[in-house]
Amino acid sequence: MQHTLSTLNYQNDFRRLPAAFFRSISPLALNQPEWVVGSQDCAALLGLDLHSLQDPEALALLSGNKILAQWQPLAMKYFGHQFGYLNPDLGDGRGLLLAEVKTEAGELLDLHLKGAGPTPFSRQGDGRAVLRSSIREFLCSEAMTGLGISSSRALCVISSSTPVRREEIEQGATLLRVSRSHIRFGHFEYAFHSGDPSLLRALSDYVAKRHFPCIAGSPNQNADLFSLIARQTAQMIAKWQCIGFAHGVMNTDNMSILGETFDFGPFGFMDAFDPSYICNHSDHQGRYAFDRQPAIAQWNLSVLAQAMSPLVDKSALNDGLKQYSEVFNQEFMSGMRAKLGLSVETPEDTDFIMETLSLLKNNRLDYSYFFRTISELDISAGDAKTLSPIRDKCVDLNSFDAWFSNYQARLQQDPQESSLRLTKMQSINPVYILRNHLAQIAIDNAKQGDYSEVNHLHDILRTPFTRQTGCEKYEALPPDWAKDLEISCSS
Ligand code: AMP
Ligand code: MG
Repeated sequence: MQHTLSTLNYQNDFRRLPAAFFRSISPLALNQPEWVVGSQDCAALLGLDLHSLQDPEALALLSGNKILAQWQPLAMKYFGHQFGYLNPDLGDGRGLLLAEVKTEAGELLDLHLKGAGPTPFSRQGDGRAVLRSSIREFLCSEAMTGLGISSSRALCVISSSTPVRREEIEQGATLLRVSRSHIRFGHFEYAFHSGDPSLLRALSDYVAKRHFPCIAGSPNQNADLFSLIARQTAQMIAKWQCIGFAHGVMNTDNMSILGETFDFGPFGFMDAFDPSYICNHSDHQGRYAFDRQPAIAQWNLSVLAQAMSPLVDKSALNDGLKQYSEVFNQEFMSGMRAKLGLSVETPEDTDFIMETLSLLKNNRLDYSYFFRTISELDISAGDAKTLSPIRDKCVDLNSFDAWFSNYQARLQQDPQESSLRLTKMQSINPVYILRNHLAQIAIDNAKQGDYSEVNHLHDILRTPFTRQTGCEKYEALPPDWAKDLEISCSS
């Protein structure tokens, strides 16, 4: 059955937690809501008819002008370590959990309206999201899903005529985020620091029961919970590192307990490979640089471990942290091997992967373009010029040729047949990624009231591994002006 917002089956489960975890609050209306873009795939998860969301009644619901009787909007309270420092004054400052939907598949999904106006946790903020950042989050959540990376989802973006002040006056917008959970590491930090041990226990029991039913109620529930969170986080980070994604603001309040990519702000997909890439212009120290993400996630997990320490003994927490490293290393290595088309493991793999990344770095080769090109050209026979689209871009041809012969020799040892290798590589090395400049063009058009480019880009990124006709410019290398784009926390 195709539902409308008013016919969905709502079960507002988060409210079973103690009242200290939230405040009830209604959204504040935006003026003249207008449909920008929506995700058919996300609507399908909910069993929603996407077209029905464009009715005036639905637009009113999605822009804070109306609420349904079945909704019980709330702002969540949490803490977080921001850039290394504990901030106790956090919570949903510009977003509300409108309601939770029980899908036909039996899953409970959060409907979170980002940009819904001020809450008790807004501090000096206006509670708003602007069109620019809502489009970026929309495109990225759905692009990550297309890439097979666990992520919160985005149902739609609504723009408005309400002015919002950032560096300049921008248009207020909302994003309807859909996720299995909005519980962050920071929720545990809040419960830990509250001084009320029952809050921590209630949270842990709730998370186990709702999200990890296989361990709920077991004698080791809380230790298992920590290790599952650590393992899922490791899997997500390994995928980020393999695809070349930098999150930008890996504060503990932006870390989902489900290992979902979450809270999109100044993220970036790498163009030219640079391990120290900092996508967030406000991150002056490079705390969240691309190559620091694996260690930062572990640091964040150690903050979570401290918050869970009244429930779990130290050795089990340390064991969970160790599992993080093990799972990350294993997933990262197998992910990189797959990107290179290596079907079996050898002791030299680490060196070869490092050599490949050094080649990319030293020649400032485009990360996604490199991996897609080697997925399409069969180098098992032929010389280094088989890869001339890449070779021609190298400043150091000797190191390229040396790398090429190592790669060719390595592939000759590999039992997998070349056409199968290339097919598999093409299924994981995307043709299209959400490059900053592509998002920027879509945003610039949207600011002029033309949403066609956002819609088109979204469509392409749904299936990023398949080349689509007439879409050459979306796989092209970034133009020079892309280097000057500055993406900051201001959203
Ligand atoms: P973020 O960097 O988006 O993860 O936000 C960090 C914290 O600041 C969260 O508690 C947000 O709810 C809050 N916040 C960010 N922007 C605003 C805003 N414009 N108004 C109110 N709160 C905000
Ligand atoms: Mg956040």
